[in-house]
Amino acid sequence: MTTLAHYATKPEDTRGRVHQEIEDPSRNPFQRDRDRIIHSSAFRRLEYKTQVFVNHEGDLFRTRLTHSLEVAQIAKALARTLRLNEDLIEAISLAHDLGHTPFGHAGQDALNACMREKVPQAGGFEHNLQSLRVVDELEERYAAFNGLNLCFETREGILKHCSVSHARSLGEVARRFIDKKQPGLEAQLANLADEIAYNNHDVDDGLRSGLITIDQLLEVAIFAEHYNKVIKIYPNISKKRLISETIRRIINTLIVDLAQTTAGKIKTFDIKTLKDVYNAPMLAAFSEPVRQQADELKKFLMENLYRHYKVMRMSGKARRIVYELYNAFLDDPRLLPKDYRADSELQQARSIADYIAGMTDRYAIKEHKRLFLI
Ligand code: MG
Repeated sequence: MTTLAHYATKPEDTRGRVHQEIEDPSRNPFQRDRDRIIHSSAFRRLEYKTQVFVNHEGDLFRTRLTHSLEVAQIAKALARTLRLNEDLIEAISLAHDLGHTPFGHAGQDALNACMREKVPQAGGFEHNLQSLRVVDELEERYAAFNGLNLCFETREGILKHCSVSHARSLGEVARRFIDKKQPGLEAQLANLADEIAYNNHDVDDGLRSGLITIDQLLEVAIFAEHYNKVIKIYPNISKKRLISETIRRIINTLIVDLAQTTAGKIKTFDIKTLKDVYNAPMLAAFSEPVRQQADELKKFLMENLYRHYKVMRMSGKARRIVYELYNAFLDDPRLLPKDYRADSELQQARSIADYIAGMTDRYAIKEHKRLFLI
C-alpha cells in the first residue's frame, strides 16, 4: 500500500461525525462512510433515475447509478496517482448525486421553479443541497440518529457548491463558502471526475441513441483527434469498437492531464499540508488547452444532445409531471403519504420536495397517473 501524501485527507485526522460513534475495528471512518452510502436506499434508487435518457428508453443507457460508479472509478484513479485518500474520494463520488430528482435536470428545474413560485421563503430546490440532506437527515436506517451520520470531510465533499445565504443556515459543513476556502483535494477532484464521466458517457449514449452522429462529433477537436488516431492504427476496426476506443482515449487524456496539472499546482503553491490545500486557490484543474477542449465538447453536447428536440420533448413531459405532482400535493396535502405531511406551510413545501426528489423516474410517472387519471 502506498502511503498517503502529506496533503491528503487522513482518516485519523477526520473532524468526525455529528453523533459520536464507537470506531469500527476493521474499517477506517471513510471506508465506513462509503459502505453506509452503498447500503442506503437513496443509493439503490439511483438505478432508476436518469440524466439525459429516461429510464424506459433503453437498457444500455447510463443511469445515475452507473454514472456514480464511473465517477468513483475515475476519481479513484486520480486519487491513486496523487496519493490522495481513495476511500474518501470513493465515498464522495458515490454520494454526489443522491439528491437528484427523477428525470435529471428537467426534474430539478421544475421542482425548483415550483418551490420558488409557490413558497419562496422555503428557498427553492438544489440537488446538491439535497444530496447532503439525504445523508444528513432523510435516510432512516439507524436507531440512534437520522441520516447516515457521515464524517465531516465526506459531507463537505458532497456539498460541491452553495450560495452564501444557504451556507449560513448549514453551519460548519458549509463554512468554506463564507470564508472563501477550498475543500480537500479529494472533494475538488471528485467534482472534475464527475465532469469527465458525464461528458464522455453522454457522447457514448448520444451516439448509441442516434441523436448525435460521428460526423457532427468530428467537428469537436478532442473527439476528432482521438478518432483519427484510432482509425489510423486500426483501419479495419468496427464502428462500435472505434467509438469505445475513441472515448476510452479521451477519458484517459483527461485523467492524465488533470492529474499532471493538479500535481503541478501542488508544487507551484508549495502545498505541504491539508491546511495549505484549504487556504490555496482551487488546485484541481485541467491545463488550459485541455480545459478548452473539454469546454468545446460540453458546448457541443448542450447544443446537439441536451437541446435535441427528442430530448426536449421528454424534458417537457418530465417538467410537467413534476410541476403537477408538486402543485397537487401542495394544494391538498391529504394526498400525500402520511410521513410526508407537515404542520407548517414551510415544512410542507420542503417535505413535498423531499418526497418528489426521492422518486425514481418510473415511480414519478406512476404517481402522476394515480393522481391525474381515473
Ligand atoms: Mg454527477
